[in-house]
Amino acid sequence: MLQPKTPPTLEAFRADAQRWLRSVAKPRKVHDSAWGEGSDSVALFDNLDHDVEVEMIEAGKAWERARFDAGWGTISWPVEDGGLGYPAIYSRAFDEEERNFDVPRRSEIFEVTRKLIPPTILKWGTEAQKARWNRAFLRTDEMCCQLFSEPGAGSDLAGVTTKAIRDGDQWVLTGQKVWTSGARFSQWGLAVCRTDPTVAKHAGLTTFMVPLDAPGVTVRPIRQMSGGSSFSEVFLDDVRLGDEYRLGPEGSGWGVALTTLSAERIASNDLGADAVPKMLALAKRVGAGSSPLLRHAAVSWWSHIRIHELNEHRVAASLEAGEEPGPEGSIGRLYCTQNLTRTSELAALILGPRLVADVGEWGTYAWTEQVLGAPGYRIAGGSQEIQRNIIAERVLGLPKEPK
Ligand SMILES: Cc1cc2nc3c(=O)[nH]c(=O)nc-3n(C[C@H](O)[C@H](O)[C@H](O)COP(=O)(O)OP(=O)(O)OC[C@H]3O[C@@H](n4cnc5c(N)ncnc54)[C@H](O)[C@@H]3O)c2cc1C
Repeated sequence: MLQPKTPPTLEAFRADAQRWLRSVAKPRKVHDSAWGEGSDSVALFDNLDHDVEVEMIEAGKAWERARFDAGWGTISWPVEDGGLGYPAIYSRAFDEEERNFDVPRRSEIFEVTRKLIPPTILKWGTEAQKARWNRAFLRTDEMCCQLFSEPGAGSDLAGVTTKAIRDGDQWVLTGQKVWTSGARFSQWGLAVCRTDPTVAKHAGLTTFMVPLDAPGVTVRPIRQMSGGSSFSEVFLDDVRLGDEYRLGPEGSGWGVALTTLSAERIASNDLGADAVPKMLALAKRVGAGSSPLLRHAAVSWWSHIRIHELNEHRVAASLEAGEEPGPEGSIGRLYCTQNLTRTSELAALILGPRLVADVGEWGTYAWTEQVLGAPGYRIAGGSQEIQRNIIAERVLGLPKEPK
C-alpha cells in the first residue's frame, strides 16, 4: 500500500491553495454582501431556463476539471488510487478557501457525483469498476445520481421494491425511483434493488450502476414549489444490465447504501452559508437594531448561525486530529438544516408582504426562493426526524424507538 505523502502544515497548504485559486479565479467581491450590488439570489434550488441550467452545469464541470487536473480534486483520496492521501481536514480547508473566490455555482448533483458515489465505489467496487467510474466522477466528466428513494420507501430505505431479477448473465430491473436529484443531468444512477424477497428486508438488497440512456429508463422531471426541477421520477421498465454493473456482492446493497448515506451526512453542512451575509445586509438595511422585536429575532438567528459555525470548528478539529467526527458530526447536519428554517423565518418577519409581492426592490422578493427551498432540506438526505432518531440512539444511547 502506498503511503500518503507527508502533508504540509495546514497554513502552508491554505497558502498554496490561495495561490492557485488567485491564478485561475477572481476573489469574491466583498460587496457581494453589500446592499444593492451583485446578485441578490439566495435560492437553495435552481429555478432556471433549461439552456441557462445546462450552461451553468457545463461551467461547473469545466471548473471541476481544472481543479482536478491541477491536483486539488483528490486531496484526501488514497494514494494508491491517485490521490494525495492527506487527512480530510485538508479537503475541507480547500473548500473553505474556494468559497472566497468567484467560481461557478454547482448544484447538488456535483456533490453526489464527486463526494458520495466515488467513496462508495472505492469501498465496494472491483478494480475494473474503480477504473471505469471513479476518475470520471471525481473529474465530473460523467455525472451520477442516487436512485434510492421510491414512492413507498424513503426513511425506510430497506423497504425498496424495485426488483432486479437474474436472467442468465444479465439482470432485469423493474420499478420506480423518485426524488432523484440531478437525474436530468446524469449519465449514471446508483440504484438499490431487491434481489431476494424471501430473506429479511435488509439482507435482500443489491446495488447496480444504471446507465440512464439504457432502453427502459425514463426520467421525468418533478416541478418543485420553489419553481425548478432539481429532482425527477425515474422509471425502470425491464432494464437489462450485465453483471459488471452490479456494485458489491449480491445481498450487500444495504451496506453499499449505508456507505453512500454516511458520506452524505458529513458532506453538506455549509448549505445556506451564502445567504448569511445577505441576511446581515438585509437586517442592517431595515434598521433591525432599532426595533426590539426585530433585534431580538435577528440576535437569536445570529446566535444559531454562530453555534453552527463553532460546531463545525469542532468537526474540523476532530478531522485535523485524524478522528471520525462524533456527536458534533451528527448534530452538524441537523443544525444546518434547522438554520435554513430559522433564516426563512427571519426573512419573513423582516420583509412581511414584500416576501410574496415582487415590488422590484433588490434583496427583498429574492428571499421567496430561500423560503420555498428550505423545507426540501428538512427532508433530503434523511429527514430531521430521522436525524434526531440517529442522535438519540447512536449518540445519546437512548432506547431504540419501538418498531
Ligand atoms: C430536495 C430533495 C432531494 C432528494 N434527493 C434524493 C436523491 O437524489 N435520491 C434519492 O434516492 N432520494 C432523494 N430524496 C428523497 C429523500 O431521501 C426522502 O424524501 C427522505 O428520505 C424521506 O422519505 P419519504 O419522502 O419517503 O418520507 P417518509 O419516509 O414517508 O416520511 C414521512 C414523514 O414521516 C417521518 N418519519 C418516517 N419514519 C420515521 C421514524 N422512524 N421516526 C420518526 N419520524 C419518521 C419523516 O420524518 C417524515 O416527516 C430527496 C428529497 C428531497 C426533499
